[in-house]
Amino acid sequence: MIDGTSFEPLQRELDRWQAAGRVARFWLRDDDAIEPTPDLERLLAVTGESAVPLTLAVIPGLTGEALAARLTAESAVNVAVHGWSHTNHAGPGRKKQELGGDRPAEIVLGELAEGFRLLERRHPARFLPVLVPPWNRIDSALIPALPGLGFAALSVYGRAKPGGPLSLLNTHVDIIDWHGTRGGRGDDELVAELVAELRDRFAGSDEPIGVLTHHLVHDAAAWNFLSALFAATSRHPSVRWLPAPALLRA
Ligand SMILES: [Zn+2]
Repeated sequence: MIDGTSFEPLQRELDRWQAAGRVARFWLRDDDAIEPTPDLERLLAVTGESAVPLTLAVIPGLTGEALAARLTAESAVNVAVHGWSHTNHAGPGRKKQELGGDRPAEIVLGELAEGFRLLERRHPARFLPVLVPPWNRIDSALIPALPGLGFAALSVYGRAKPGGPLSLLNTHVDIIDWHGTRGGRGDDELVAELVAELRDRFAGSDEPIGVLTHHLVHDAAAWNFLSALFAATSRHPSVRWLPAPALLRA
């Protein structure tokens, strides 16, 4: 069930944007795609109905031709590089990480180069030279080498810190409660985060607001939130859901 009142703070904030003649920019990143599944179909349906462009962070080492074939008819879907095989190489008790840690940089960068080539070949019409590190985590020492592999941007979680060697196209609101239910977070909490991001942008930052989803683990709460969010925003005159390529160009 959608509790309509949960979205009132978002509505009020967007109305403030409208009164000021401002337009907020949003983008959607969904992680861990490998192959067509019923959950992926649902994501494509939910985003398609509201004309929300979608960036899928695809795991290069695990994906195949089936996903490429399924996406050929989708004009509003882009594919970004989600690490190599989404393997945790961090030691016991450490935060999960594929990109960095104790492994030699040349091994990690070799995997990323292969992942880039593989996805570019499989998804020529929708490939995005953007690296989405698994668990949003990458050793900072690796980042200066990424442009040499062809990457134009990095996408992690949290507000972008300017001045790095690579553009950032980040996400800011993660709809999944990873440390609790591992399902969708509550509407009130998510709306409060979106409003906080909007207030930050209203005050001057021009960073687009990234919403992060993981279709393979969505429960009813997560799907309901997404539907309600798109219903509240996709036709609002002060919101643009933009495709990632347009944000990279800007
Ligand atoms: Zn992931």
